[in-house]
Amino acid sequence: MVEELYPGIYRIGVVLPGNPLRELNSYFIKGSSRDLLIDTGFRRLACRGALQAGLDELGSAPARRDVLATHLHSDHSGMADLFAGPDCRIYMGRTDLERMCSFLSDPDQTPAHRHPRYPVEGFPMDLLEEMHRTNPAMTESMPGADPRLTPLDDGDILQVGDYALETIFVSGHTPGNCMFYIRDRKIMFTGDHILFDITPNITCWDSCPDSLGSYLDNLRRARSYEVELALPGHRQTGDYYSRIDTLLAHHEKRLSEALSIIREYPGRCAYEIAGLMKWKIRARDWDSFPVIQKWFAVGECIAHLDYHRRRGRIRFEERDGVRYYYATSPGASI
Ligand SMILES: [Zn+2]
Repeated sequence: MVEELYPGIYRIGVVLPGNPLRELNSYFIKGSSRDLLIDTGFRRLACRGALQAGLDELGSAPARRDVLATHLHSDHSGMADLFAGPDCRIYMGRTDLERMCSFLSDPDQTPAHRHPRYPVEGFPMDLLEEMHRTNPAMTESMPGADPRLTPLDDGDILQVGDYALETIFVSGHTPGNCMFYIRDRKIMFTGDHILFDITPNITCWDSCPDSLGSYLDNLRRARSYEVELALPGHRQTGDYYSRIDTLLAHHEKRLSEALSIIREYPGRCAYEIAGLMKWKIRARDWDSFPVIQKWFAVGECIAHLDYHRRRGRIRFEERDGVRYYYATSPGASI
């Protein structure tokens, strides 16, 4: 399905079968000599068919089509090489581009190598291996680095017809996540930095010591832009500023929850603490969580623990290669 959201700016819904996100919003901007496709979907037949149908409906010619991925996640970047024209560019923020290329250049890395934090935080190795085999983020990505990949830096401008898209680095959801701003129209492509009816996943990254802290700083930074039309990576749009407030409040609550659990159950590892946190998921208990949801939950839990630890509220003790958390003082609060 294609809809015109603003003159020359279209949304193509790309179905994500079996994924709780349901659909990716792919955006297409018709330029004068070149067009820009923002985000593509997983590298999967259903996604490819949906995106191609939308582009056909718009009469998009591959020879003039550049692709922009807001971040490295494969539901955004997975088909970038398939949809960019042969002599065109594939843009991505520099940090994510370098990270994605380092993954792609070594596809045989073991799960423990690729996600070193998880075993240390008590995530069972058999589940980590299962996640690695089945998570589309691992299996439905671009097959390798592509010579058309072009890094963007904070402040870089992409001109597409009348529209100038300004690159805004907002690390947090991924280390090099970006939003794109059309200043004179007050339009913001928010990628997965700001979603309106789901909460963006914030996880731990080995290159980011405090991904939640960065995310919250970049939510506050996002508020400084004048935005009348926010175009998110998934689902509906909504009021930009009130959504930022809701997301900030959500993480404040999560931080309190994590700290209370550590005070009540000192000496648990992140895997166990995640099992004690509340999650919006239809599962009987922690043990029956699907492995991918468990992996997301533990990553998010670790990001909240890192935030507290860097601010001196909690500490860990490592025993037999696993970290166990304690509050630094019984009354510590956020
Ligand atoms: Zn994402």
